[in-house]
Parts: sequence; C-alpha cells; structure tokens
Amino acid sequence: MTRAGPLARRAYVVVAGGAALGYGLGIGPVLDTVFFVVLGVATSAALVIGPAVNDAPRRPWYLIALATALFAFGAGIRPLVGGAAGWPVALPDLFVLPGYAVLLAGLALLLHRRDGVRDVHATTDMLIVLIGTASVAITVLGIPASEVPGRPLWLAVASVVYPVLDVLLLCVLVQMWFTSTRFSWSLASMSAAIIATLVGDLGYAWLARHGVLQAPHVVDAAFAVSFLLVGATSLHPSMRELSVGQRRSVQGWTPLRMIAVALALSAPVGLLLLSRPTPTVLRAGLAVAAVAGTGLLMLRATTAVRELGRGQRAIHHEATHDTLTGLPNRVFLDAWLDRHLARGRELRLLFLDLDGFKLVNDSFGHATGDELLGAVADRLRAVTPKGAVLARLGGDEFVVAFVENGLNAQWVSADLLGALSEPFRLREVEVVVSGSIGIAVSGRTGEATCSSQDLVREADTAMYRAKAGGRGGTATFDDSMRASVRERLELEQALRQALPLGQLDVHFQPVVDLRSDLVVSHEALLRWQHPTRGSVPPDAFIALAEETGLIVEIGDWVLDRALEVLAARRADGARTLTVAVNVAGRQLVDPFMAERVSGALRRHGLPASALKLEITESAMLQDDATVTRTLATLYAAGITLSMDDFGTGFSSLSYLRRLPVAEVKIDRSFVAGMVDSPADEEIIRAATAMAHALRLTVVAEGVETIAQRDLLDRLGVDQGQGWLYGRPVEFTAMAYADVGRLTAPSRSSITASGRDAGTGDS
Ligand code: C2E
Ligand code: MG
Ligand code: MG
Repeated sequence: MTRAGPLARRAYVVVAGGAALGYGLGIGPVLDTVFFVVLGVATSAALVIGPAVNDAPRRPWYLIALATALFAFGAGIRPLVGGAAGWPVALPDLFVLPGYAVLLAGLALLLHRRDGVRDVHATTDMLIVLIGTASVAITVLGIPASEVPGRPLWLAVASVVYPVLDVLLLCVLVQMWFTSTRFSWSLASMSAAIIATLVGDLGYAWLARHGVLQAPHVVDAAFAVSFLLVGATSLHPSMRELSVGQRRSVQGWTPLRMIAVALALSAPVGLLLLSRPTPTVLRAGLAVAAVAGTGLLMLRATTAVRELGRGQRAIHHEATHDTLTGLPNRVFLDAWLDRHLARGRELRLLFLDLDGFKLVNDSFGHATGDELLGAVADRLRAVTPKGAVLARLGGDEFVVAFVENGLNAQWVSADLLGALSEPFRLREVEVVVSGSIGIAVSGRTGEATCSSQDLVREADTAMYRAKAGGRGGTATFDDSMRASVRERLELEQALRQALPLGQLDVHFQPVVDLRSDLVVSHEALLRWQHPTRGSVPPDAFIALAEETGLIVEIGDWVLDRALEVLAARRADGARTLTVAVNVAGRQLVDPFMAERVSGALRRHGLPASALKLEITESAMLQDDATVTRTLATLYAAGITLSMDDFGTGFSSLSYLRRLPVAEVKIDRSFVAGMVDSPADEEIIRAATAMAHALRLTVVAEGVETIAQRDLLDRLGVDQGQGWLYGRPVEFTAMAYADVGRLTAPSRSSITASGRDAGTGDS
C-alpha cells in the first residue's frame, strides 16, 4: 500500500493530466469527446483507488466516482448531440442530473462520517446560506432562463433545477469548511473542484438565461478542471481528514463566516426590494425565505446560548463534584457548611472512613477499589437523610452533614454503618468492609465562630478515635480530643524547631551475627531531646514528622549523620562495618530521594554496600510509581534494602518476591512472644524458611534474653538486634568491630544480668 499511493498518483498525472490538456486544446467534437471520456474514466478510477491506498472510508468516494462517470458520459456526448440532427438535446441531462444526486449523496455521506450534519451550529449556518443563495440563484438565473420565450418544457425545468443543485453543492462546500478546524491540501483541492463545477454551471445558466443553448468550449473546460482536481484529491494522503470529524463544542463565527451568514440573511429581502420580481409565487417564496432565514438565526442564537449555559453548568458541576462517585466534593461541602454556619445554623458533621479499604486496593487493584467506592457511595446515598449533604472528600473518606433539627447524629451514624454491613458483590470479588465515624457538632465548642475546616478537622479527629477503638465504631468530638489536637499542634511546632535548635541526635544499636556473635552493622535510631519535654521517643513524633513532611529534611540529616559516623569508624579499622538507616514512606515519594542518598555516600567516601535502608512493608507497597522507581534505583546502586517490622503488615510471599529487598527484619513482637507462644515460634520459623528460599537475610529485632537468642539461632535466623547485645547509644559509646577483632558480648560472657549491659538510651 505504501508504494501503491505514489504509483497511482504518477499514473493519474500522466493519464488524466494528458487527457485534460488534450481536451483543453479543443481540437474538434469527436476528439473532445474522447479526451473527456478518458479524463472521466481516469478520475473515476482514481476515486476508487484513492480510498483504498489511503485507507479511508470507501463508500462516499465510490458514490463520487459514480457521479463522475455519469457526468463524463453526459458531458462527453453533449458536443455530439449538438452536432447530430435528430438526437434529443435533453439526452446528456438524463445522465448529468442523476449524477448531481449521486454526487450530493457522496458528499453528504462524507460530511456524515465527520459528524458534520449533527453539528447544529454548522448546520443552521449552512441552511441560512442555503436559503440566501437559493433565493439569488432562482431569482437571478432560474426564473429568467425558464421564461425565455419558445423554450421547451424540459429546458424551462432544467434551468430552475440546475441552479438549485448548484446551491446545494455550494452548501455542502460551506458545511465542509464550517466543520473543519484545520486546513488540509485535500480540503483546498476538493473545494476548488466544487467551485470549478459551480463556475461551469454558472456559465451554462448565464448562457441559458440569454437564450444560448450550446456553450462554448471554455465553459466545459471548467468541468475538466473539476474532474482533474477531484481525482487528485482522492489520491492525496490528506484526503483521510475529509472524512474525520473535527468537532468544536460551540461554533464561533469567524469574520468570513459572519459575512457569509449576513449576506445570505439579507439576500431574500434585498431581492424583494431591488429586483421587483414579477411572479407572485417568487415574491411569496422570497418572503418565506426571509422569514425562514430569520427563524434559523434565532434557532442558532438560542442553541448557542443554551449550549454555553450547559457548558458553564458542566464546568461548575465538575469543580464541585467527585468524578468517581458523582458525589459533591470538598469544595461543595465547604461552601455548604460556610453558608449554613454564616446563618448561625447548628450543624452536625459525620466523617466516615472505611476500615481496611487500603487492603482491598492493594490486594485487588485500583479498578476494584474504585468499584467498591462507587458501591459504597450508592449505599450511603440511599440512607442519607433528606436535606443532608453526602460528600466524598477523597480516598475512602465520606462526609454527611446536616442542619440539626430533630435529626439525631447517632441514629444517622448507625444507618450509615448499617448500610455497609452487607458484603459488596463486585465484578471480581466479594468484599466486606466496615466504616468508622467521627462526629462533630457546631456551636457546642463555646467558641463564637467555627469554620467549616474546624468542623471537618474535629470530625476527622473523632474518626481516628473511633478507629482506635476497633472497626465499625463511632466517636463524638469532645474536649479531651480538643486537648489532644492542641497537644499535637504544639508538638508539631516544637518538632519544626528541633533540627535547627540541635535537639536531634542519632544513636546506634549493634546488629550481631547469631553464629559468630560479631557485630556486622548498626541501626541508626533518631533521638529527640526536648528542653522541657525531655527525651521524646521516635514513636511519638515520627508519624507526625511524616504527616507534616518534616521527615524529608530530618531523614536527610539522620542519613548524613549516620554515614559520617560510619566513615569515622571505618577509618578507625572497622572496614566491613555497615549502617542501617530507617526510611519513612513519605521520603520514598520524593523523586530525588535516590539521588540524594548516592550524594551522601559520595560525600562521605563510602561505597553503596556500606548502607542499608530499613523500610516498612506499607511504605514499600505504597501505590506510587515514584516509590517503585526509587526502590529500583537504590537497589541497582547496590544499597541493601531491608523490610522492617516484618510480620506486622501483609507479609505476603508475592510481595517479597516482587520487591528488591535483600533482608527482612522480623518484628520484635514475635521475638517477645516466641518463647511462650508456639504460634509466634512457628511464624518466625515459617518467615525464615520463606525468606531463605528467596535468598534473603533474616534479622530478628528485640533480642533481650539468651533464651531468645538460642531459639532464634535454632530457627535459622541469621542476625539479631536487641538489648542483649546493646541498647542504642551515642556514637562515642558504639560497640563496633571488624571481623575477628572486637566482638559483641559472647555466649559465655553474657550472664542473666547482661541483658542490661548496654548503656541505657533513655
Ligand atoms: P525500628 O526501626 O523497628 O527500630 C527498632 C526499635 O526497637 C527501636 O526503637 C529500638 O530502640 C527498639 N529496640 C531495639 N532492641 C530492643 C529490645 O531488645 N527490646 C525492646 N523493647 N526494644 C528494642 P526506637 O528507637 O524507639 O524507634 C522506634 C521506631 O521509630 C523505629 O523502629 C523506627 O521505625 C522509627 N525510627 C527511629 N529512628 C528513625 C529515623 O531516623 N527515621 C525514621 N523514618 N524512623 C525512625
Ligand atoms: Mg528499623
Ligand atoms: Mg523494626
């Protein structure tokens, strides 16, 4: 096909071009006919081949090909008919007139393909032009020609019919331009072809009006030009665009289009006033045309205004509604709350968060998660009381807000939670979810003003309280929560100052090889010494640092500090010592994380193998392309990735296989329970076997006793970390060793009291 196009184009230029040239010379009736028919056949052939080589819809072009064939035949015999006595002069019209019908059908199909006819604005504009031009054509050309005395009836009819057909052709051309948004070569040549036909017809009509029936050769040459152009159009690659829709939502009026419409609108009235047409039918027709044109203009204006309004409403709806569930969004809710709060209404706000939604999303994928949210929205919608607003704030968070007038918030909560109790039958799975609800009440705070944000925040806080109490619970915001909110705010303020004020420090805890008792690495653990609060444990502020984003800056600092200490220790002789640094989920979302880690290693002159990054399961499994990329980049750089707190999350084998981790750290809760609980022991045994099958190193956290150490050793765990070996301590008191030189407390040297041997870290 790729080579067929150029070949067909070349052949067409030679055959059709040659025939057109020959015809143009006007050698004589017989040769003219031969040339014209050759041109017609070449054009028809091009119209059949064109859509095939250009891979365009065929039918419209086939119809145009048929029309061309009919024209060629009709026009071809016209010179012969004129010369040969006894032949009916109307014979060519028997082919040409149906040719027009077929041509119009073909062009209309082309327009239909591109949705041109369904475009209301383009169509009304086109009809206005149609009425205007038809008025002119009939008044100026058709009627006078039909009234030439001594005309046979067929000629009188033809002189009216031809201009009307031409007008229709013109309208198709206009519509083609109205529905095109960009210029193409095919659009230009097709237009030129139609205009050439119109010129030819106009010539005939003008001559007919003045009583001349046999047109000079030059008029027919216009049709030859038209043929040549149509064939060329169908062979040009851009012809495909002619059958492709280029829709605009509201059709504007370009200056040219405005002039066309204005001229067309004024034509019937102008003709009535200026040409003083004699037949009453024509006068009546022009009057009707004037009225119809005005009516169409009105239609155009009203539809445009209506469409504009609809567009504006759609934009507003989009801005205030959630696309997934169709529910109002936060913008809508805030406006609703502010409006009612400003009127002094007492409001109830129920904040509902699904329990375990993340699990559904992570295990079954986004599509299922979205489907579940849609289904949840439907159920909540069904039980939301009349007059209340149900909104989705994002994720799995929904809000129901209403004006307090007899409606009880607890009852509404019970209805909402009840609506979720039945399992959700989704396309691929059936899931059971519950929700937790936090309730906030406006006006009960005693504070005069309460903003919509306050209300949502309070309900959110209460929701967390409800969640802490187990699944499917409800909690109402109260003063104790207010105190905890204030406490949180104060802690946040203090945390912002902690790094610049030098209150942060990094402590190091040894990780020991269970077989050799040698220290293989240290975990860097963050410490915060606050002047009045004292030592603040990481569990009390890491989550807050993550929520506020402070963790990015703090995490960088911890990494830098840990590497600085390690570099010093390696220089001191502990050449194979490594350091493990904890990384929060929020840090992984940062696209420059991997770059900054390698930068830090470079700064301290350390190889990537010196660093281990500890990341929790949930942080690794965040559904985020950046996280996946960051993990892969870190892994590729040679940094060891360790899955921290293993066993507290999903702990799925498939995750472990998929993620680029080299180590798992079994959570200390299992180690603590292990000696007494056979279940915990089994879990460690299974996790170790599973990890070893994947060639991962297994580290146990929280090793406090010799009994634990021995059992872990028997279970095959590779390394241990815990108070037995040493608490996290300042770098000056670090227990470190290069293999064979300095070791952690050995089996024989650890006594029962050895558990507290390390320097207390708090
Ligand atoms: P983690 O990464 O699991 O760290 C181990 C925690 O267990 C540390 O708590 C450590 O002091 C404690 N631990 C070690 N051995 C024993 C033991 O034998 N018995 C008991 N009961 N506990 C032991 P820590 O230092 O309070 O840190 C808590 C968590 O805070 C860490 O858990 C880690 O997730 C996070 N964290 C600490 N420093 C950082 C940091 O720099 N960045 C980030 N993102 N998180 C950090
Ligand atoms: Mg850790
Ligand atoms: Mg841990």
